[in-house]
Amino acid sequence: MRVEHDLKLTFDDVLIRPKRSTLVSRSDVTLVREFKFRHSNITWTGIPIVAANMDTTGLFSVAAELQKHSMLTCTQKFYSTKEYTQAWEDGIDPEYVAIACGSTEDSFDLLKRKMATNAGAKLICIDVANGYREIFLEFVRRVRSEFSSAIVIAGNVATREMTEALILAGADIVKVGIGPGSVCTTRKVAGVGYPQLSAIAECADAAHGLAGHVMADGGCSSPGDVAKAFAAGADFVMLGGMFAGHDESGGELVTSSNGKKYKSFYGMSSSKAMQAHYGEVAKHRAPEGKEVRVPYRGQLEISIQAILGGVRSACSYVGARRIKDLPKCTTFIRVTQTTNEVYQRFNVEE
Ligand code: 5GP
Repeated sequence: MRVEHDLKLTFDDVLIRPKRSTLVSRSDVTLVREFKFRHSNITWTGIPIVAANMDTTGLFSVAAELQKHSMLTCTQKFYSTKEYTQAWEDGIDPEYVAIACGSTEDSFDLLKRKMATNAGAKLICIDVANGYREIFLEFVRRVRSEFSSAIVIAGNVATREMTEALILAGADIVKVGIGPGSVCTTRKVAGVGYPQLSAIAECADAAHGLAGHVMADGGCSSPGDVAKAFAAGADFVMLGGMFAGHDESGGELVTSSNGKKYKSFYGMSSSKAMQAHYGEVAKHRAPEGKEVRVPYRGQLEISIQAILGGVRSACSYVGARRIKDLPKCTTFIRVTQTTNEVYQRFNVEE
């Protein structure tokens, strides 16, 4: 047994230090970024904020809104090939959709069929809860060799050595986050995890050394957290809970006795998701996710504007003209838990 003593940080442990800047206004900041990848020969241009491949957010209805802003949606993996075909006909743009899959033999065949539904499909998201298994690396290699020009996203991991291994196996973008998700219970159930800000910074450092990229996945609960994720080195930021609860999101709309509206939102490893997709919770598995109600938030567009506005504001506070410049312009300051508790006491959402 070993204990690592150096401190690992999460979003609430830091704030971004304001700096003098030559920017005149927030509108000077551009959030659109052009990416070139280590393996794929395709470039991708857009705002690198991504809807999570969860039942309630990885939806074509969400993609239809996000694509208006050149933002990406990782679609939930339970859509059928027929549903993909229909979505393309309905105007969903494959440029802003990553087709998600698991890492089983069946997943591979299904992925091939889904990719074949549109010649423009070029983004693949291989998503497993635990990206540390050798067999997962093998699967990433296989996907890379089958789809040599596709942009391959793979994860999740939270440490440098596995980020490097995934990039060398064929991933263009490594998805980073073990346990930070808003409806994730892995840290409680398994005692496993890694504070997300440090995970992003360390994995980004490892990935960038190999011309790879990282997608920070989980734990953002406000536009400020999204800005901190980019500032820590994330190339893309994936959001679940922040995109839940809207008209375009999935989940049942319920009205409580006091007239307030909520929408259901649940983890993909929760009992709810396992029952819905597999009819039962497998005997060898303990659920590592939960179901919650989130306040109903109306149109997704309103939240998108709030997120983009927040990130633009962070850039203007530190003089970053492009989202790509945010890490080099950022100094984080450590804050005490008291700072956060006071902040939260005065920011209770009703
Ligand atoms: P959020 O943005 O809601 O904080 O986090 C979204 C991320 O949480 C997803 O992209 C996924 O990586 C993770 N996640 C979703 N469902 C579950 C679950 O049931 N268990 C765990 N451990 N993580 C989950």
